Amino acid sequence: MAKKYAMIHDNNLCIGCQACNVACRSENQIPESVYRLQVWIKPEEYPNGTLGYEYHRQSCVHCENTPCVSVYPTHASFKNEDGIVLVDVDLCVGCLYCVAACPYQARYVDPVTKAPNKCTFCHESRLSRGEEPACVTVCPTDALVFGDLNDPKSKINTVLSERVTYRQKERLGTKPKMFIVPNHKGGIKS
Ligand code: SF4
Ligand code: SF4
Ligand code: SF4
Repeated sequence: MAKKYAMIHDNNLCIGCQACNVACRSENQIPESVYRLQVWIKPEEYPNGTLGYEYHRQSCVHCENTPCVSVYPTHASFKNEDGIVLVDVDLCVGCLYCVAACPYQARYVDPVTKAPNKCTFCHESRLSRGEEPACVTVCPTDALVFGDLNDPKSKINTVLSERVTYRQKERLGTKPKMFIVPNHKGGIKS
């Protein structure tokens, strides 16, 4: 059976350190002015009155129903057999329809190739060598879990069965393969 790769970002374990962002830049040689991954930090006041932070990971969420692929006139943007959404730079005509169509603002225009680019789950680098994505490997708190949804014994399926998760903008029907464990800090105990 084909693989179906997905990721979890646990908002309770994340500390906003940006090690994932730095590792992604290094592994995938991302130019300074753009990014495949950013963790935004937002101050929060919780229901019990305590103060804390929310950590929002912004990157491609590898939709199953892909607005960026549907809009493409030349099929330069496509989903591979493992469910990973990729861009074939050689087929890109630079129309940037895909950048506009992405509801997650996950794509950027590479300043060198002038073509759209984004998170690939490290498909062309670490994954092709049988290694986990760079961001997952360096996270000091294990806030990121990566794996195959079609493997019932995978760690990602274990975590998904044990934790409550949600996906961003589910109402759009995009079926993201990025799951988020919501923050439960500051809850009111009964
Ligand atoms: S490396 Fe881990 S803890 Fe640090 S910002 Fe990224 S996800 Fe959060
Ligand atoms: S998050 Fe954006 S770039 Fe990634 S698959 Fe979905 S629509 Fe495409
Ligand atoms: S999976 Fe790879 S390309 Fe995607 S954000 Fe993580 S390090 Fe970057």
